Amino acid sequence: MADDPCVFPLKCAVQNYVWGKVGNNSEVARLSQSGNPDFKLHQDVPYAELWMGTHPNGPSKIHLDGVEKDLGEWISEHPEQLGKEVNEYFKGELPFLFKVLSVRTSLSIQAHPNKIHAEFLHKDNPNLYKDDNHKPELAIALTPFQGLCGFRIIQDVAKYLQDIPEFYNVVGNEKAVKLITASKSVDMPLHRIAMKDAFESMMMRDKSILNSELRKWVGKIMEMEEQGEDLSPYNGEVLLKLHREFPGDVGCFAVYFLNHITLQPGQAMFLDANLPHAYLSGDCMECMACSDNVVRAGLTVKYVDVKTLCKMLDYTGRPPQKAIFSSIQDTEDPYATIFKPPVTDFAVIRIELPEDVAQYQLRPLSNASICIVINGKCEGTTQSLPHPLKLNPGSVFFISACETVTLKLELGSMLIFRAYPNL
Ligand SMILES: [Zn+2]
Repeated sequence: MADDPCVFPLKCAVQNYVWGKVGNNSEVARLSQSGNPDFKLHQDVPYAELWMGTHPNGPSKIHLDGVEKDLGEWISEHPEQLGKEVNEYFKGELPFLFKVLSVRTSLSIQAHPNKIHAEFLHKDNPNLYKDDNHKPELAIALTPFQGLCGFRIIQDVAKYLQDIPEFYNVVGNEKAVKLITASKSVDMPLHRIAMKDAFESMMMRDKSILNSELRKWVGKIMEMEEQGEDLSPYNGEVLLKLHREFPGDVGCFAVYFLNHITLQPGQAMFLDANLPHAYLSGDCMECMACSDNVVRAGLTVKYVDVKTLCKMLDYTGRPPQKAIFSSIQDTEDPYATIFKPPVTDFAVIRIELPEDVAQYQLRPLSNASICIVINGKCEGTTQSLPHPLKLNPGSVFFISACETVTLKLELGSMLIFRAYPNL
């Protein structure tokens, strides 16, 4: 065991959730096909997520001397390879789950509890809230990536209430007036209270009223579309997409409460605790704390815990550009951009190597990390490896603490992502 390599390829699980992109339209499928020799691509199957990590619902596998084992098992046999700080701070476990997502139809509107709230929810209702961990998430776009993220500024919501009678009706007269009045003041706590009351009022609205108002409003938008009118003042295109995917769902009206953003490749959003969000379409890298704790609000057939959700949300209104999470240029590496959210569980480096780079060093980090090649080909060597690793798009590999990997590039540029504990 002492001779086990410290850098090795991982075979990663693919999740075929129905919302995933289908066949080779899916980045998850494209990467799996070129990175995993056992993967068989079917053109009629959705490929939603590629999982890199130790999560029991899809653990990454390693092959050593013809024996396959789970990455988590290997880590428990070699805790020193994880790094001293991770062992101390996260009790010998890899604290993050790293993913590629290919989103065709929208995912539910949701928020994740903070650590203290997660512990409470789990204790109170362990069947619904499976563990006691928080679940901050970072999404970095690979292709133009659409999502809903955080509450709009209150003046925007007030304008929608004034312009869209159907939206006004589902919020209800009392709370709609309260929000419009609050939007004229500069009192931020008042904004938050009015936003909460209006959102909660919509979420609690009688299903039959909601359905008929939504049908009426979608009908009007479709008419405008037929007439060739501009739908953007009403977020019409997003509304129609959501209504096609989830007819009659309260989540369709949420486009008037939440910021709609489109991330360009390399841009990110960070979903801190209690921030409402939904992924709508596109491909992205995602990194999260290892947890399953989701509180859903709509665009779903799963259980929606409205009471818990409305109580926990962060109702602070923000302009959409504030929803984009800023990365930092690595001062020691002109090719690396670092996404460093304010959590200890993970950070992600995006490495983009131009064509004229022939050799590149993945520098040693004090804790273990996981890398995935998105584009380009190279050979990876380390001191502990007898043979170089052949790396293609979709190749995923584990790097033990303090290991350096030298990449010798073949022709062309490369794009690599690396996730590591943010300690
Ligand atoms: Zn989420």
